[in-house]
Amino acid sequence: MQNEKTAGGEQSKWIPTSSVQTCYSKDWLLRTNEHKDIKDFICLICKQVVSSPMELTCCQHESLKDGLIVGEDCLKNFCENNDNSCPTEPHECKPFKSKASKKFIGNLLIMCPKQFEQDKKILQGAETCENIRCDFKGKLKDLQNHLDNECFFTLIDCWFKPFGCDHKCRKQNLNDHLVLNMKYHFNLVMELFQSMKQTIQLHRDISNKLNLEIDTLKKELNHKIENLRQETAKYHSDIE
Ligand SMILES: [Zn+2]
Ligand SMILES: [Zn+2]
Ligand SMILES: [Zn+2]
Ligand SMILES: [Zn+2]
Ligand SMILES: [Zn+2]
Repeated sequence: MQNEKTAGGEQSKWIPTSSVQTCYSKDWLLRTNEHKDIKDFICLICKQVVSSPMELTCCQHESLKDGLIVGEDCLKNFCENNDNSCPTEPHECKPFKSKASKKFIGNLLIMCPKQFEQDKKILQGAETCENIRCDFKGKLKDLQNHLDNECFFTLIDCWFKPFGCDHKCRKQNLNDHLVLNMKYHFNLVMELFQSMKQTIQLHRDISNKLNLEIDTLKKELNHKIENLRQETAKYHSDIE
């Protein structure tokens, strides 16, 4: 970043904020990349590696030989708190999505971020109760898929959660859980089935009662109509 003279007046509003950080951890990416691979993709605001890179193309920076790059969320957060000012100095910001940078970043080599967190905890001397490792190495663009579908650290719900089983486990272990708890799951399903049967029976009882009431009302109504007819007939014959 280059130091530029800032125009007076607006300056008091211009507060750098970095409370929200959705850019990628630099330490994490440096485990699998050289510094030179990521140095062009450091977010102007949070100083981590940009996710959803935006380039700032305000004419005020035209003299800089390197583009200014910032993570989309960091920029959004900054703009909301700083009257849409550019993060370098107070002037209106003109960011655009940098597809080329996004593509490059997407191809950076990564290790599993959860493994990275665990390594860090172990380094800090924390006891980890589990002897789990995720040896995933891949590209940054495949991160979400890894976390959703393959990661040893990602816990998923038991298939019988809707029936009341609160067990969570790694995808790889779910099969064991299902096999070992067949009877338990069966009982859960039966329990729900029984309670549904009761509900249905209850509704049936109510509906029978309603039908009876309707029948009674119908009979009463017919009776009244018949009475009325007879009275009308009597009235006519009295007149004649
Ligand atoms: Zn950032
Ligand atoms: Zn600018
Ligand atoms: Zn802006
Ligand atoms: Zn993993
Ligand atoms: Zn279960």
